[in-house]
Amino acid sequence: KKYVYFFGEGDASMKMLLGGKGANLAEMTRIGLPVPPGFTITTEACAHYYKNNEQWPEGLEEEILANLKQLEEKSGKKFGDPNNPLLVSVRSGAPVSMPGMMDTILNLGLNDEVVEGLAKLTGDKRFAYDCYRRFIQMFGNVVMGIDHSKFEAILDEVKEEVGAKLDTDLDAEALKKVIQKYKELYKKETGEDFPQEPYEQLKRAINAVFESWNNKRAITYRKIHGIPDDWGTAVNVQMMVFGNMGFDSGTGVGFTRNPSTGEKEYYGEYLLNAQGEDVVAGIRTPKPIVEMEKELPKAFEELKKVYEILEKHYKDMQDFEFTIEKGKLYLLQTRTGKRTAQAAIKIAVDMVKEGLIDKKTAILRVDPNQLNQLLHPQIDRSQPIQVLAKGLPASPGAAYGKVVFDADEAEKLGNEGEKVILVRPETTPDDIHGVVAAQGVLTSRGGMTSHAAVVARGMGKPCVAGCEAIKIDLDKKQFTVNSTVVKEGDYITIDGGTGEVILGQVKTIPPQLSGDFQTLLSWADEVRKLGVRANADTPQDAQKALEFGAEGIGLCRTEHMFMAPDRLPSVQRMIMAQNEEERRKALSEIEPMQKGDFKEIFRIMEGKPVTIRLIDPPLHEFLPKLEDLLVEVTTLRVKGVTGPELEEKENLLKIVRNLHEANPMLGLRGCRLGILYPEIVEMQVRAIMEAACELTKEGIKVIPEIMIPLVGHRNEIKVLKEKLDEVAQAVIKEYGVDVSYSFGTMIEVPRAALVADQIAEYAEFFSFGTNDLTQMTFGYSRDDAEGKFLFYYEEKGILEEDPFQVLDQEGVGQLMQMGVQKGRSTRSNLKCGICGEHGGEPKSVKFCHKIGLNYVSCSPFRVPIARLAAAQAAI
Ligand code: ADP
Ligand code: MG
Ligand code: MG
Repeated sequence: KKYVYFFGEGDASMKMLLGGKGANLAEMTRIGLPVPPGFTITTEACAHYYKNNEQWPEGLEEEILANLKQLEEKSGKKFGDPNNPLLVSVRSGAPVSMPGMMDTILNLGLNDEVVEGLAKLTGDKRFAYDCYRRFIQMFGNVVMGIDHSKFEAILDEVKEEVGAKLDTDLDAEALKKVIQKYKELYKKETGEDFPQEPYEQLKRAINAVFESWNNKRAITYRKIHGIPDDWGTAVNVQMMVFGNMGFDSGTGVGFTRNPSTGEKEYYGEYLLNAQGEDVVAGIRTPKPIVEMEKELPKAFEELKKVYEILEKHYKDMQDFEFTIEKGKLYLLQTRTGKRTAQAAIKIAVDMVKEGLIDKKTAILRVDPNQLNQLLHPQIDRSQPIQVLAKGLPASPGAAYGKVVFDADEAEKLGNEGEKVILVRPETTPDDIHGVVAAQGVLTSRGGMTSHAAVVARGMGKPCVAGCEAIKIDLDKKQFTVNSTVVKEGDYITIDGGTGEVILGQVKTIPPQLSGDFQTLLSWADEVRKLGVRANADTPQDAQKALEFGAEGIGLCRTEHMFMAPDRLPSVQRMIMAQNEEERRKALSEIEPMQKGDFKEIFRIMEGKPVTIRLIDPPLHEFLPKLEDLLVEVTTLRVKGVTGPELEEKENLLKIVRNLHEANPMLGLRGCRLGILYPEIVEMQVRAIMEAACELTKEGIKVIPEIMIPLVGHRNEIKVLKEKLDEVAQAVIKEYGVDVSYSFGTMIEVPRAALVADQIAEYAEFFSFGTNDLTQMTFGYSRDDAEGKFLFYYEEKGILEEDPFQVLDQEGVGQLMQMGVQKGRSTRSNLKCGICGEHGGEPKSVKFCHKIGLNYVSCSPFRVPIARLAAAQAAI
């Protein structure tokens, strides 16, 4: 087995074996870019090391020695030779990029003797000592685990001694002192002298890089990103080039396009006379790359060519690292650049226009999940903003509000109509009511899967989590960032898409589709097979849905129309009716209002199907809460109030008590209501059909699809459909027009999926109500589970994802698949869709495509996400 590849032997396709860094170093070598020579030890060697008690596989040592020899020949230098020393870097590199998670050692091969040789050879003592002290520091830290800060303390001490401000101000003598102290520290911490034998250094560095695969940071990173633990890291051993050889040398990073806007421009940063991590370490402030044109014009010309070659070759935006040694440019790394959603869209569309990629590739380049960033309210960035701190972007969207530190307080102020941001060290299930009432959540601890993050995402609220820069003092009711104090009641703004915390109220703007976004979506529409509809209960939602490209309404919930304050009294009278006559009277008050709503929505959705669901929730949801009524009645009695005022309340209390159920979600709701109180659904169907007929008369095409919820048994739909069809026919006859309407059902009770063939005898369409279906398949209450235990399940990996957000394909999905198959075995043209939250979740959309649904339906702002995901599924 071959464990070592010289750069150029492999290529970019070999990321699994050579790691991303190694594969691309090989690729860049192949296409003639100036890469310092070196070789890659494979991930298999690392995996072997772990499986076999930290032993190297047989033959590895020989291969390394042979490649080292080749490296000496190629570079014309010799490892450990003071007269012409070869120094190397030893760099980690996993199959997928894990930025900054693992370790790298630079300047390896130096010792007390070689450093003097290097000084003589280059005529630059300062440079040679600088390399040596960096090497001791990195080796000490990475291989021996000595804390960085201990080295930094020594460096600061010497800087102070000689009155130097920057590292670059230290002269050779001062650096010599640093080296002496570093070596003493090394001896004190490890009990041994700093190793002087270069090959010994190399072996230990390789092992340390192997071991960095399993440091805590790396393990956590893999967990969050779903990277398998058994892959292992590759190790790259590469000839050093020096960016710290004076002010005609330097090091930097570049992006071939602007990763935040997508603009094609020279983007990046560099530092003169610097090495390795100096650019990102924040010790000195790097300069924007365009300034290199003045400082190192020749190298900048080279760099411009590199921008072009990299893009032409990789056909995607690249993020690369380079070093300039005495004016000569070298490339040290390239990878696909991370980018914002906005940049991703612009780059994809621009690259099609430039002829670099085709439309399908462009569609696949944009992560539908990332689009969320663009479909929530955004911070208006046309004005300057003052970013106070940055945490993890845990749930997208921007919001402002007054700072509160307590969930009860948040609820209180929220109910009073105040906008608040709940700020907590972290949240627990006890804080849920506060999250509900707040505009957004900010926590100083916890990660992307913390309780606060999961709950906020579930509610579609912005959340910035793990913002460690803010120091919360719950007693004083304030938090501080450096010297800024933010007190309870002060305004802050958070951007959950970027993680920014901003002082004051910043204006937000509603989401809008940019021209490029529209273009990309129009390409998506060309390839997708799935229809995309929206869940919309109001004309406003319907309008928004149309703007975002919905091809119909997949779920219009009629009960929301009952909740309006001017209607609720009639609805309550209907519920409290003592007999059918009374009930019909109350219903006749509601009917024109419902008809009006339907007309408006039908008009907006002209020519597109609109699925209307008949009343679904248990009736008690339209009445006051039992506890509230009890309090009211008791208060009246205590005050001695009698007569009609008390009687009315007592009567209401009695009805609410009667309606009370232990498990209302499994109770008298959905089709069960329609069966017990047919007058309600008859009124609804009449309102729908009259609205449809009247518009048809106006020449507006209407396609109503009437959906009966919560069916679990064939007889449920049979009884209702037969009765309601009569109502529909009667209306049509009355108006003397032709309307093509249909009856269908929501598949949301597991039994319905199991007997879908029977149900399809009556249902002309199915719509999978995956919120209820998930609730009933798992037996998890969807109103409570997320905040109570699902966050814990996710954290502990018991469930990989929240099944209310990402469809559980294995379980719930199996029921869906069965439902489609069985349903279509009875009715081959059965139209099948989904209207649960999952209809706008990219992975779930792909699954819906796979099982042959006709459409997905989701909230209006997710329509663009579904369009893109559906297209990706079809490619
Ligand atoms: P990471 O994976 O954390 O980015 P790298 O292996 O890329 O770590 O190394 C970090 C930095 O070290 C590089 O960006 C580069 O500046 C410097 N470096 C690595 N190898 C060499 C080399 N052979 N010559 C000069 N600098 C190097
Ligand atoms: Mg790097
Ligand atoms: Mg339901």
